[in-house]
Amino acid sequence: MNSTGVLEVICGPMFAGKTGLLIDMVEQAAARGNVCQVFKHVLDNRFDGSNVVTHAGRSYTAQSIDSPLALCSSLRPDVHDIFIDEIQFFDYTMHTLCFDLVKSGKHVFVAGLDLDYRADTFGCMPLFLSSADVVHKIAGVCEVCGGKARFTQRITNGKSACLYEKTIIVGLSDRYQTRCWNCFEVSKTCCER
Ligand SMILES: [Zn+2]
Repeated sequence: MNSTGVLEVICGPMFAGKTGLLIDMVEQAAARGNVCQVFKHVLDNRFDGSNVVTHAGRSYTAQSIDSPLALCSSLRPDVHDIFIDEIQFFDYTMHTLCFDLVKSGKHVFVAGLDLDYRADTFGCMPLFLSSADVVHKIAGVCEVCGGKARFTQRITNGKSACLYEKTIIVGLSDRYQTRCWNCFEVSKTCCER
């Protein structure tokens, strides 16, 4: 019998430790002797072009990719564990590929935002959450009240972002905060497109 594939998902808001948990999993898999490959979306160049890097400064070598085709053509034939960070930046075709990889016996681990700055579902993440064997849903700390934060608050011109901005604006703590249910807000007054 072939070995069984596995799909694990790490999700939560920004600054909650998603990439740190993904790096923990890479290190554990490598310690077991598994052949591992780590990928991230090319849009995530906030810290480093060729590593996955946590907000706390930990890093791991990763290949930047912009499509499922780029992932496919980079895979080693003997790879056992595949890790992909910032999965929400890909569309549904990345889920289709990962589904096939898991069916072929690979272990696939993805991390990313479950919700965008409007608290709408983000990219292909809902597909991954629905088909995952295991979901690690992690919370941050609300930067306003210190409560448990499930949301990523975008700040535009010093105020809560409005509903009509672009979904993807890459930024760090200058543009984003973690917020709880009570403190999260989206403005309906247009301020930036
Ligand atoms: Zn709060």
